[in-house]
Amino acid sequence: MQNTKPHAALLSSPGLGHFIPVIELGKRLVTNHGFSVTVFVVTTDNSLSKSQLLKQSPCPDLLNIVLLPPVDVSGLITPATGILSQLAIMMREALPKLRSAIVAMIFCPTVLIVDLFGIEAMVIAEEFNMLKYAFITSTAWFLALTLHMPTIDKVIEDNHVKNQQALLIPGCKSLEFGDTFEPILDRNDQMYIEYKRMGVDLQKFDGILVNTWQDLEGTTLVALEDGKKSGRVAQVPVFPVGPLVRAVKPAGPKSEMLEWLDMQPTESVIYVSFGSGGTLSAKQTTELACGLESSGQRFIWVVRPPIENDSAATVFKTNHRTDDTPDFLPDGFLTRTRKIGVVVPMWAPQTEILSHPSVGGFVSHCGWNSTLESIVNGVPMIAWPLYAEQGMNAAMLSEDIGVAIRSKSFPARELVVREEIETMVRTIMDEGDARRARVKTLKSSAEKALSKAGSSYNSLAQVANDCESAFKYLKAKAQG
Ligand code: UDP
Repeated sequence: MQNTKPHAALLSSPGLGHFIPVIELGKRLVTNHGFSVTVFVVTTDNSLSKSQLLKQSPCPDLLNIVLLPPVDVSGLITPATGILSQLAIMMREALPKLRSAIVAMIFCPTVLIVDLFGIEAMVIAEEFNMLKYAFITSTAWFLALTLHMPTIDKVIEDNHVKNQQALLIPGCKSLEFGDTFEPILDRNDQMYIEYKRMGVDLQKFDGILVNTWQDLEGTTLVALEDGKKSGRVAQVPVFPVGPLVRAVKPAGPKSEMLEWLDMQPTESVIYVSFGSGGTLSAKQTTELACGLESSGQRFIWVVRPPIENDSAATVFKTNHRTDDTPDFLPDGFLTRTRKIGVVVPMWAPQTEILSHPSVGGFVSHCGWNSTLESIVNGVPMIAWPLYAEQGMNAAMLSEDIGVAIRSKSFPARELVVREEIETMVRTIMDEGDARRARVKTLKSSAEKALSKAGSSYNSLAQVANDCESAFKYLKAKAQG
């Protein structure tokens, strides 16, 4: 094995929402910038196997994927530990395993690139004289909030939490209380402390990559880059390198659902999905089913059982089912919607669906990967945020960028009733709706940003050049 080109080590925290963009970043570094890339994936006992992960994000032979031995955090978390804290703890526990894996390599990588939850790994980069970059798999606006957190720490409680005032982030859209990021609501909670620490540590990196692009978040990126002015947000360079989304898988035997899609008119189907883990309450599931049905719109719905466990109600309903509709959907739903709808349990091939010409709308939880997949396929959205920074994404998509509609119920997290769902579905599927035209413009701008000499291409090239210089310098030094 020869040490002839820069080698990037990428670290992905558990969860497909992190793994997918990290893999896409790795692929770009290999194909566009001639790097060799190793992706280290932190795993737990419940994680997907390597082949399952690669099924979700194929990258034949381009990258060296290393699953680190599973971390056991059972003694460190309780059922009350929030998801952000859980991820931070898992990543902390994985650090010795990452260190051993790097020690075992013949040549030390030139650069370590970590996602938000992996930023404590910067000590390993420093120990081995590697460059260190963070990769934010969300928006520039979320990055701005994260970087600004340590500064606004003390005002959050009084102004934002108690008085429900908007949080001001210099040069950026303010964060309304209704759209807030849950971990910042309780200054005594571990999630808050972890998140604030991330905001401090991010400023110690050589640069921060973010999965967005100039035309999508120009104003926020200017605010982030404007480091010399007072009130600055980022003290290190920020590189918009997106949208990095999963490519559509190579054609194989078609599923029944995709065959069904082939037979539907152009842009006539609305796709409904809440990401890799999103679930609705039983009441909300019923409202969504009824709203979809009464809209009369063709649909594909990725359905999961509701989170509450009302076993008594289920028992009674089971006895009166008139078809195979699952207990948590209205009785007879499958029969009544058979001609216009497909219900998929748990998981669907989302990129294949969104890139299909028959799909014309997306009811989405606004996870950032799903959002980008929708935009790069020119599909307008109904924004239905559930957790994490999804409320921020929904606000940005509906109010600033103009590619989504969202219910008035969301900021208050109230039930979205069937009549409103019906209206939103009809509105977003209207071919004359301005959001449809806007998302198509953004689709073109995304392609341009990623093409050779486009803004995101150049941004990543700048990072690649810095790594190349460090690689040459260290190699010359080693050779004396
Ligand atoms: N996904 C999928 N099928 C599903 C649900 C999700 O392929 O039924 C994929 C989706 O395409 C996206 C990822 O899982 O790439 C979810 O990431 P996102 O950031 O949207 O949300 P998260 O799951 O992290 O909340």
